[in-house]
Amino acid sequence: MTAPDHNEGKREMHMADTGPSSSIGGLLAALGSLKVHDASPTIDADMPMWFMYEAPEIAPLFGHAEAGAAANRVAFSEHTGTHVDAPFHYGPTSADGTPAKSIDELPLEWFHGDGVVLDLRHKAPGDFIGIADLEEALAKIDYELKPMDIVLLWTGTDRKLHSKEYFEQPGMGRDSTLWLVQEQGIKVIGIDAFGFDRPFRAMREDFERTGDGKWIWPAHFAGIEAPYCQIEKLANLDAIPRPHGFKVSCFPIKVKRASAGFARVVAFVD
Ligand SMILES: [Zn+2]
Repeated sequence: MTAPDHNEGKREMHMADTGPSSSIGGLLAALGSLKVHDASPTIDADMPMWFMYEAPEIAPLFGHAEAGAAANRVAFSEHTGTHVDAPFHYGPTSADGTPAKSIDELPLEWFHGDGVVLDLRHKAPGDFIGIADLEEALAKIDYELKPMDIVLLWTGTDRKLHSKEYFEQPGMGRDSTLWLVQEQGIKVIGIDAFGFDRPFRAMREDFERTGDGKWIWPAHFAGIEAPYCQIEKLANLDAIPRPHGFKVSCFPIKVKRASAGFARVVAFVD
């Protein structure tokens, strides 16, 4: 058990902080009144993968018959299923010269907080999600972002999982990403699509047309300048019954020097 730690009155978050049993009772009572919404699809061997990542392997390591218990061996990229990308994914060094943080080095406080769903379903595959789109979506739900909100971009692309159209999504640009991170103080942005940027096809077309490398992964690489995390491959954002006024947990699994971590993303609505 980790001792409670207080820093200028701010509650800190500790992994495996069990606390006294009375507070567990309070927590369970509070959880009992919440509706829980699963925003992660199941990882399976048929999960669509980008060509640089191999298909997931899930195989029995031993079974009940021979060993009296069952266990599987799994082998897949950090970027399989719903996962959180760390700044280290975007580059080894952040723009201020410090080493980019890997997933195990990021503050837990980033991964639990107030959620907001921005409805961007009108954007077409290959479109940029620009600053004006984000402002319009916020105005529609009459919400003003505050630092550390967890912003969930609702494109509806998760409905195309297991089809080739899943690889075609509207995606963030450099300016819209920096607007959220630098101007609004957002640390975690999620999308219910295969990737956070536009489809690779669209980026490559722009690169071939202009010869300018700025068109390749502009939203990912914005994280070199302004470190942030993106959640890719969310699902079921339509099941969250309101666009704000709920909590999101998206704690990534802790693997040493990992570029990303699998996350079971959950929205809690009271
Ligand atoms: Zn990723």
